[in-house]
Amino acid sequence: VSSTRVDRLLSSMGYGTRKDIAHLARSGGIVFDQGEITDATVRIPVSADLPCHLRIGGKALDPLAGMVVLMNKPVGATCSHKEAGALVYDLLPTRWRRRNPAISTIGRLDKQTSGLLLLTDDGNLLHRISSPRSQVRKTYRARLARPLDGAETALFGSGSLTLNGDEKPLAPATLKIISETEALITVTEGRYHQVRRMFAAAGNFVEALRRERLGDLCLPDTLAPGQWSLLSEEEIALVF
Ligand code: URA
Repeated sequence: VSSTRVDRLLSSMGYGTRKDIAHLARSGGIVFDQGEITDATVRIPVSADLPCHLRIGGKALDPLAGMVVLMNKPVGATCSHKEAGALVYDLLPTRWRRRNPAISTIGRLDKQTSGLLLLTDDGNLLHRISSPRSQVRKTYRARLARPLDGAETALFGSGSLTLNGDEKPLAPATLKIISETEALITVTEGRYHQVRRMFAAAGNFVEALRRERLGDLCLPDTLAPGQWSLLSEEEIALVF
């Protein structure tokens, strides 16, 4: 078990500057296993269950570095600081914006797309899932403007569909038709506006798009748009 100075740990987690933390400690706001830590320069052991032992201002410590958040992204929130509008990060606790390492989305969803979005501060995991080689299966529910004509399954599954402006054809994708105007589509790539462009190539138009699954990890029914939860190790393993 490694150890760290309380002020360093807490400032990296966004609780304030080291001076703020020193002040908080002196005023009794930092409690480790029932005992107040009044000197914020002391070292404490950092184990995975630290949030069960350390209380800050009466509340359990935030999750340590290495967390993965599953969010049900609402329509209208953006994943990119370059786009106008509310950010998905604004749906997380304010303090988390000051964390170091920073939290970022694993891949992106369009502003108009809702559903399963993962966020993490774990650089290795980020790299593993978003690498073009990872081929994590992503399943989207698409609601379409026009009835499906039955040719889409073969077109998307062919491995020879090249989207406008792309050089390489798309890898085969699978389509499960739910109704005349609704389908589940599973892709392994993450090209720009991929699913919308695929249906456009089939002469259709996506009116609503929601990601429901990444690998074997499903968006829980219990999570309303805008809500999020922390994933366990077991849940994270379902993505690969
Ligand atoms: N395909 C899209 O068109 N948009 C998304 O957000 C994800 C996949």
